[in-house]
Amino acid sequence: MNFILASSNTHKLEELKNYFAPLQQFKLELPPEKIAVEETGNSYYENAHLKAEKYYQAFKRPALADDSGLNVAALPNDLGIHSSRFGGGNLTDAEKNELLLTKLGENREASFTCVLCFYLNPQEIFFFEGNLKGTIAHAIKGEKGFGYDPVFIPEGQNTLAMIPDWKASNSHRAKAAASAVQFFRERDCQSL
Ligand code: IMP
Repeated sequence: MNFILASSNTHKLEELKNYFAPLQQFKLELPPEKIAVEETGNSYYENAHLKAEKYYQAFKRPALADDSGLNVAALPNDLGIHSSRFGGGNLTDAEKNELLLTKLGENREASFTCVLCFYLNPQEIFFFEGNLKGTIAHAIKGEKGFGYDPVFIPEGQNTLAMIPDWKASNSHRAKAAASAVQFFRERDCQSL
């Protein structure tokens, strides 16, 4: 259970490492180098699979990919699986958040999705999904987290960038990871 993360996003690495800490044999590290993967899939599942497979093939080691994004009801084609390229691909996270705020009117409904793909080998590929419902704030708020955290408000909370402890236990990534931890625990027991 020694995985490379099919990404160079250190925020994702830190969040994921914490979630898998309860699995004793599980290790997750950044890859020796970044591989360019074109995210040409039509779903979070397809893109997570593409990334994990490419890293598995490049480094001949089990790979874990996280494909995630912000689904915004009023902009169904602009974000979602295209969230990292919102605004054309050259914007900083802060600029993407500013742009999002300028584009939204009354409908501020949104959700985050995270799909994890564990690519152990070509015969053993496992997917886990987590979602988090909320709304888009009217202003950028908070210093913690990354990406769209400063503009996303989970139901009944402050922005994710203001509540890192809450995010750690309740986010889309936390939910996907919790399903994976349960799955690998049960799988380990069965193979004993
Ligand atoms: P990916 O790296 O292709 O999966 O792109 C994910 C996009 O969604 C990036 O723009 C991230 O910043 C954003 N994103 C994913 N997860 C989160 C999160 O937990 N908080 C804030 N933004 C996120």
